[in-house]
Amino acid sequence: MRSYFVFCLLFSAFMVNAAQVSNLARYDHFRLYRLFIETESQVKMLQQLEDISDSYSFMGHARQVNQNLTIMVAPHKIAEITELMERFELQGTVLLHSMQELIDKEQFTIKPKTTPPAEFNWQYYHHLTTINQWLQLQVNTYPHLELIQLDGSYENQSLIGVKLAKNPDNFAVFLECGIHAREWISPASCTFVLNELLTSTRPDVRNLADNFNWFIFPVVNPDGYRYTFEGDRLWRKNTRPYGLCRGVDLNRNFASDWNGQGASSDPCRYDFAGGSEASEPETQALAKFLRANVAEQRIRTYFSIHSFSQLVMFPYGYTTERAPNYNDLVAIGKEGIKAIENTHGMQYVSGAMIETIYPSSGDSVDWVYSALDIPIAYTFELRGPPDSTNMFLLPANEIIPTAEELLAAIVAMLDAAKRLGYYSTGGNKMEL
Ligand SMILES: [Zn+2]
Repeated sequence: MRSYFVFCLLFSAFMVNAAQVSNLARYDHFRLYRLFIETESQVKMLQQLEDISDSYSFMGHARQVNQNLTIMVAPHKIAEITELMERFELQGTVLLHSMQELIDKEQFTIKPKTTPPAEFNWQYYHHLTTINQWLQLQVNTYPHLELIQLDGSYENQSLIGVKLAKNPDNFAVFLECGIHAREWISPASCTFVLNELLTSTRPDVRNLADNFNWFIFPVVNPDGYRYTFEGDRLWRKNTRPYGLCRGVDLNRNFASDWNGQGASSDPCRYDFAGGSEASEPETQALAKFLRANVAEQRIRTYFSIHSFSQLVMFPYGYTTERAPNYNDLVAIGKEGIKAIENTHGMQYVSGAMIETIYPSSGDSVDWVYSALDIPIAYTFELRGPPDSTNMFLLPANEIIPTAEELLAAIVAMLDAAKRLGYYSTGGNKMEL
């Protein structure tokens, strides 16, 4: 009897303990540094550091002098980075002293997984389940809107999107969102844009909804997105295992100079290009759908939505060679950033990907532009600025203004492209 009592006591103690222990990734005292690279030896030192240690998370790579770089440093490396910065006379500032504080604070702005789709809004971030249920609710509510489910992800979740089509003769716009799991503002902004297309009474937005058809996929990396809620808030890739590490950067997995510069062949890296060109089920599902529909649905415009850095970028990411309609892309990009500034005064920068951010290869926008001849193709990096102190954890009270900026840019850019003749039959200037 006594031993049974002791057993019960121990067992309940264990249960309490088990209930308290979480297996979520934690970032207590992880610091964010903004570095200002001024010498070749600093470039080399940072490149070596990225190679030898996984205690430093690089947001981009050290490439050249006169470059800024944000890195996140694990707490047990604070002394080391301090010493290295002194020794190499590397200038930098601490943007944030504990990533975990930011993650904890953000928890209050996430709606529970059980939230009914009717309560979906843009004051909060939402789980994948809620986003998908909300999409279904819109499809049930609005005519001309249909649900699209593409083949499964690695974890067998569908890539769910919608098609809004009021006129089969319209040219179509494709909005690809959430390819990088941790960039939560992307799905949030894309659902906002869809909602505006469905409900806005503004003439310029009504015009877009009536005179273009829309393919909107809020979360094309469903496994990764789910994992940022249930595993690691800062996860970027999909979740497929490769050896001991896992995850492919889906925006490095497309067949556009695959595994070239700005991508890694190491599965443990954040920009791992995958086992081969389009090796991932998510990439395959998207590519297959786009190939099958680009001509028939007249998809002439493609927007891929990311964060952060406040950029509006066009091809190419993998070569400094200028895209065939470079001048038009410059002009349309300028209209986009002007519209953004006129909305809430935010400064964005526009340019070719390789000029504006850093070289990248295998990204979706380069692929749709090169392989499918979609002439108007842009990657957005939404708020915050390049030296943002919250990176991918944009406060939820910025969802609506950020999404309003995106919508304003889309309105202005489609208008500019239309004036340049991209949406008239036979007007695909790529063929000229
Ligand atoms: Zn991204």
